[in-house]
Amino acid sequence: MNAVSLIASDWFPRAATGGHRARPVPCGVSEPPPTPPAPFTERHLQCVWADDRLRPAHLATAAGERVQVEHPGEWNVGPGPDFLHAALRVGPELRRIVGDVEIHVRPADWQRHRHAGDPRYRRVCAHVAYFPGTLPAADLPPGALQIALRPALDATPDFAFDNIDLLAYPVAARATPPPCRAVLSRLTPAQRGAVLDAAGESRLRRRAELLQAAMLDRGPAQVVYEETMAALGYRPNQAPFRRLARRLPLDRLRESSAGDPVRAYALLMGVAGLLPDPTARRAQDSETKAFLRRCWDAWWPRSDEFLARRIPRSDWSRVGLRPANRPERRLMAAALLFAPAASLPERIADVVRDPRGVPAERLLALFDLPGAPYWSHRLSFATAPTSEPVALVGRSRARAILVNLLLPAFAALGAPAEAWKSLLDALPAEEPNELIRQTALRLFGPDHSPRLYRSGLRRQGLIQIHHDYCLGDRTLCAACPFPPALPPAAP
Ligand code: SF4
Repeated sequence: MNAVSLIASDWFPRAATGGHRARPVPCGVSEPPPTPPAPFTERHLQCVWADDRLRPAHLATAAGERVQVEHPGEWNVGPGPDFLHAALRVGPELRRIVGDVEIHVRPADWQRHRHAGDPRYRRVCAHVAYFPGTLPAADLPPGALQIALRPALDATPDFAFDNIDLLAYPVAARATPPPCRAVLSRLTPAQRGAVLDAAGESRLRRRAELLQAAMLDRGPAQVVYEETMAALGYRPNQAPFRRLARRLPLDRLRESSAGDPVRAYALLMGVAGLLPDPTARRAQDSETKAFLRRCWDAWWPRSDEFLARRIPRSDWSRVGLRPANRPERRLMAAALLFAPAASLPERIADVVRDPRGVPAERLLALFDLPGAPYWSHRLSFATAPTSEPVALVGRSRARAILVNLLLPAFAALGAPAEAWKSLLDALPAEEPNELIRQTALRLFGPDHSPRLYRSGLRRQGLIQIHHDYCLGDRTLCAACPFPPALPPAAP
């Protein structure tokens, strides 16, 4: 597979124009983000702190004392510290400390945000940063603890920032109508479109940069495998799919399956803890019994080797999942995409080397998986075959994977800038979800025409504006840096 290339700056010419900064400010605080860019924001860290399923059990102060979180505090969606009225137990004697908690990416952000002189921060009892480091005690309220998340998160193998659903956590209320709407309404339709294009390019550039950093760390093929698995899991099973890709890495999958998709499927299902027990008495037709027997014959000799890596069945969600999207079907898609010698990463690399034709269609075609063993006419192990074939990866999921993974990977792997630009202009649109509709409503009001964001790039732009400005805003839009950064109305 291609070596990871540097991303050419001219791939995203619109990202630094049209009022959308190349690296927008996430929290309404007028400052640049830390460099190099971290693959997460303060909002991710706030989610980690708030949610005991994400927050590591073993935290420590900068002085080495153990910290237990009795109560993380109430999430503050207004001005002031991030969490109010928290309670912590500290040290071997478990002394109780109560107060507010402020979260940052780096310890020095406390000084850069000028919290020391702000009376709203006087009750802060813990300053929590991702990166380790200490501030002078005099800069913090008396007795405030300094806690770094990174060492504990690094020791949690299944943790990934990408698994955090930022929208599942509290967001601040916003002014109605928001100030950006008045500024945008004075722009021409072409200017409004250019703002969305620039925001969309900014989103894809950052995604490409993050992928590139991950590829340098874990190798391009493994990263494509992990990210495709997460996308196949969709939201309910994103985390266990990603975990499976780490516990059964691509090299092991290929070596152990010898290129056979059914063997690869058996290994994926076995490590996922999803392979049905063949000795259980179930009403299954002969094709199902024969397929499961084949899978068990492939899994059984390797099961001891992978025993410690197995994922509990209870980690998988079926709530609200359509039968066609269940993990046992999606894992066959993974097996077909990654078991063969010329698997998805190599085929992406082929398109990068020879990007002639319509790359979007060529990339989308990678997910056409006709004739899948057993699953091409099945929705579950318990139901009869369907009369028509059922795709393992539907077109809308394939388009989402194209936008969120293949296109940024295309850039990260060094596709020629011209090919990238033509792909960007022809970017297929994902279905407009609730986030896209709500952001468009906030920005353009109830009477806007959805034609404005019919293109895939502009829909990405709406998502990015939401993440960069709306999601972290705690000032009822009053201090949002987006409206003043927009271009002046054309004369
Ligand atoms: S936070 Fe900013 S971008 Fe979002 S609605 Fe308010 S003014 Fe507009």
